[in-house]
Amino acid sequence: MREIGGEGLTVIAGPCTVESREMLLETAECVRDAGAGFLRGGAFKPRTSPRSFQGLGHAALPLLAEARELTGLPVVTEALDVRDVEAVAEVADVVQVGARNMQNYPLLTELGRAGRPVLLKRGISATLDELLMAAEYVTTEGNPDVILCERGIRTFETSYRFTLDLMAVPVLKERTELPVIVDPSHAAGRRELVEPLSLAAAAVGADGVMVEVHPDPDNAVCDGRQSLNCEGFAGYVNRLEGMMATA
Ligand code: PEP
Ligand code: MN
Repeated sequence: MREIGGEGLTVIAGPCTVESREMLLETAECVRDAGAGFLRGGAFKPRTSPRSFQGLGHAALPLLAEARELTGLPVVTEALDVRDVEAVAEVADVVQVGARNMQNYPLLTELGRAGRPVLLKRGISATLDELLMAAEYVTTEGNPDVILCERGIRTFETSYRFTLDLMAVPVLKERTELPVIVDPSHAAGRRELVEPLSLAAAAVGADGVMVEVHPDPDNAVCDGRQSLNCEGFAGYVNRLEGMMATA
């Protein structure tokens, strides 16, 4: 398994959600070819509206396994519900806990016993203390592999989807040995901001970034506005690597 928190910047990329086998495999190959280290893709989606697409659910899990097989990329996917942890942990190399579930303590406890690294996203109004204590729910169960993810918090500012709190990165690093990554896509809500925020994340010491990529963002089922297309992602990775090399 690849490392997060070692040398260099880990790039996790893929669609917001698994829409179909074809789109997932196409995206997986495009992010692998561009140099991503991990494939992301939600099977179970925490959507603000119950009327929005909720993900393919269990049907997406074999597709993620196939994408992993095809590309060799380890898979990051979210467990939304404690009842799905076992099934998700079977295909996921890293199990994501979404922002809305950061304080779902039964879920965190279950993931502490699931034998997979956990990518824990900061809740939109969670303090760093609360994030660190949420991580402790996992580690207390004997699972030391938690990756913290800053993904934007809610502030009074309405010009972007969330406010990316980059100060969280160096401050978390003062307080924990756990790797810290940044998700600029969900913070920004639009793709133009993904690259500058990623560069800034790298500059403040993030161990990785998680970005949304879709082969046809205009027709994405969710979060198309913040998704890079395959070509855009390839250029993005090149520029990120260029900056890391000269830093
Ligand atoms: C996601 O990464 O797919 C997601 C839903 O993000 P968040 O939980 O940060 O909103
Ligand atoms: Mn999304």
